[in-house]
Parts: sequence; C-alpha cells; structure tokens
Amino acid sequence: MSQAMKTGQAPKIGLVSLGCPKALVDSERIMTTLRAQGYAFSRDYEGADLVLVNTCGFLDSAKQESLEAIGEALSENGRVIVTGCLGVEEELIRKTHPNVLAVSGPHQYEAVVGAVHEHLPPVPNKFVDLVPEQGLKLTPRHYAYLKISEGCNNRCSFCIIPQIRGDLASRPAASVIGEAERLVKGGVKELLVISQDTSAYGLDIKYATSPYKGRQIPARFYDLSKELGELGAWVRLHYVYPYPHVDQVIELMAEGKVLPYLDIPFQHASPKVLKAMRRPANQEKTLDRIRKWREICPDLAIRSNFIVGFPGETEEDFEFLLDWLEEAEIDRAGCFEYEPVTGAPANELEGIVPDEVKRERFERLMEVAQDVSINQLAKKVGLTIEVLVDDVEPQANRAIARSKWDAPDIDGQVIVDNATGIMPGDLMTVTVTDSDEYDLFAEPVTKAN
Ligand code: SF4
Repeated sequence: MSQAMKTGQAPKIGLVSLGCPKALVDSERIMTTLRAQGYAFSRDYEGADLVLVNTCGFLDSAKQESLEAIGEALSENGRVIVTGCLGVEEELIRKTHPNVLAVSGPHQYEAVVGAVHEHLPPVPNKFVDLVPEQGLKLTPRHYAYLKISEGCNNRCSFCIIPQIRGDLASRPAASVIGEAERLVKGGVKELLVISQDTSAYGLDIKYATSPYKGRQIPARFYDLSKELGELGAWVRLHYVYPYPHVDQVIELMAEGKVLPYLDIPFQHASPKVLKAMRRPANQEKTLDRIRKWREICPDLAIRSNFIVGFPGETEEDFEFLLDWLEEAEIDRAGCFEYEPVTGAPANELEGIVPDEVKRERFERLMEVAQDVSINQLAKKVGLTIEVLVDDVEPQANRAIARSKWDAPDIDGQVIVDNATGIMPGDLMTVTVTDSDEYDLFAEPVTKAN
C-alpha cells in the first residue's frame, strides 16, 4: 500500500519527460488527466510514490538516454512506469530493466492512466471528486479535463479537501490557455474546465495578469472563459457556484462561446441545511439567479448534485429541497446519501438521520429529478442540434453522442440512428426525434467534420 493510501493524502507522481514537443504534449495530457483525478506531482524522486518516464526512441542516442533515465528512476525511486516512443520496444526495456511496472507506447493515454491506477490507486471521495469514478477508466482523445486551480478556500463541513489539498491555488491564465490550445491542436474537441471552485478562480492571486500572445490576460473566471471560448472547441464549465459575477459568463453562453451548461453542486436548497453544510454562496437567492440566467440564455442546462440525510435535515427541509428542484428545473441531478468522512467537522453535528430515512429520501429525490429530466428533454424533440460523437456501433449503424447539455459520464446521451461513416470525435448535426428519462434520440442531418 502506498504512503498516500495509508494517509489519505493525494498520491504523488514524479514525471520525467524526454524528447520532442509532441512527447511534451503527451506528458501534459497525462498530467492533466491524473491531476483531475486527484493525483499530485512531486519534483523529486524521493517525494514520489511512483515515477512515470515518458521516453523518446527516435535516435539511438535518444533510446540510450531513455534507458538511462529509466535506470535512474528505478534506482532512486524503485517504482517506475514507462511510456512514450521507446515504449514500442517493450522487449528491449524489459530486458534492460526487468523491474519496470508497466510499459506503453506513445499517445496511449488510457494505458498509462490505467497503469497508474493499478499501481497507485487514486484516493476517492465521492462528494467532491471532480471526475466521476466511472470516468476514471479512460478519457477518449476528443475531450479533456482542464484543471484551472488546486485546493479550495471554502470550508464545507462535510469535506476534507482543503485539509488535504490546501487553500485555493490558481494557475496563471496564460498557462491554462496554453494548455487548452495545445489540447485543441492535438484533436481535443471539448474542454471540461474543472477545479474545486471554478467561480473563485484567480481570487488567491488577485486576478493577476499573465502574458499570452502579446496580451495580458487576467486570471478571472470571465476572462478565462472568454479566451477558452475562442479556441474553437466546446468549453464546459464544472463546479461553479451561484455568485453574481457568474451572470457575465452566462452571456458568453448566450453568444455561443461557451456551452450553455453549468455544473453547480448545490448539495441542498434548505437555507438551514446549507448553513450547517457551510456551503459557499448559501446566502444567495439562487432561484432568482437561475431565473435570470435562463432569461439571458434560455437553453441553459443545469447539472447539480445533492446530499440527502445530512445531520439535522428534517422532513420539512427535504420537502423544501424537492419543491426547489422542481421549481429550478434542474436538468440533471445526482444524489448521495450522507456519509461521514473521517476528519470532517460535520461529524460533530447532531441530528443523525437514520439509514432507512436517507434511503427513502434518496429514492424520492431521484423520482422527482427523473420527472424534471423527462420534461426538460421532451422540450428538445424536433430541434436540430450539434452533437459530439463518443462512440459508434457500426453493426447497428448507430452513433452514441452527446449534446451541449450533456457532460461525459455523468449526463445522458444522444443516440443517433442511421449514422454511417461516423467516427468517435466527429461533430454532427442531428434532428431530435424522441426523448426518454435521460437520453435523446436523433437522426443525422449532416456531419460537420
Ligand atoms: S467547495 Fe466545499 S465541498 Fe468543494 S472542495 Fe471546497 S470545501 Fe470541499
């Protein structure tokens, strides 16, 4: 068991990146994915639970350099995963260094991330994980997670993230935009912006500007969203809280620069429960705010998550939540039954809700959420929309795609029939013919690319 697993700290990876700029992009993509899954990075061998060596195999001298780098990582750390161009010569690597944990070739992101999971499992926390557990298995190349900050300044009573990852630490805007641009150049069609609190981006660095292509870009939620929206990919915003400054970003959605989609983990609606949870923006009049957002951007989809059975939650609080969910027309809702997390202040709260009550509330909430989802999706029938294809079933002549209202792994899908000559990663224009609880059904109009 790694040190990280024993202590509940973020597991740490050391990265040695050799070779050309393409290999560097690969390293960055691997880092982005792993960072989004809660891994941290160590600058030295000593502090790492495992070392990843991204190799180059273009020239004999580069091969030699790669083999030496693997040897050094093995002697300094002992736990080494090899990827990159030299990975195609697995036999040579294993003959020279029989103790490497895993070997994969260039651009094999899923294989590398899979090997890391196998040898250094992530520390999961279902209330606050940025990437859903089912999303850990692979990130297809046409979408990528873009982490804009680490840590969090909030102190929600059920959460230990700030204890583990510290206070908010935002990346400079130029670094985020540079990474996003490289991802888009590498074929990524959808950028999923994540952090623990996306709307707080830049607060810690006082919205400092950084130079990007001769311009100074402030580290501010609105400016960053606008810049990302210029890159020609779908931009989806996760983990936003309903602060007033979010209104401006909704305007970017109305202009089509950013997807009309907001993932806001409300967790509850009852003011009393929100206060006990110490949620950010718990004083805001969220229903008014959501109404205003929908006036600005009528096709905005809201995804949210809720916790039922939080200590002190009464039947009245819970019914308040159900009414609110209907009134707010939350398009996509996820729900968890409250469970204490070791070290979280909420464990001291009174009013434990019995397990059977939690279960019953979970089922009631999911029923209401499903009704809302059915109604919201039925409104889309007859529309012509753009979708991004995640998968194809050639035998059935079917494409499994997503609309701008669906994030991968957590939301619904658009099932496109009569889809010939379509590949994962294609954008298509389709007409929606039907809907059910969570998914849309469609026929192609054209394939965009
Ligand atoms: S916003 Fe709250 S739940 Fe999310 S990471 Fe910060 S403290 Fe945890």
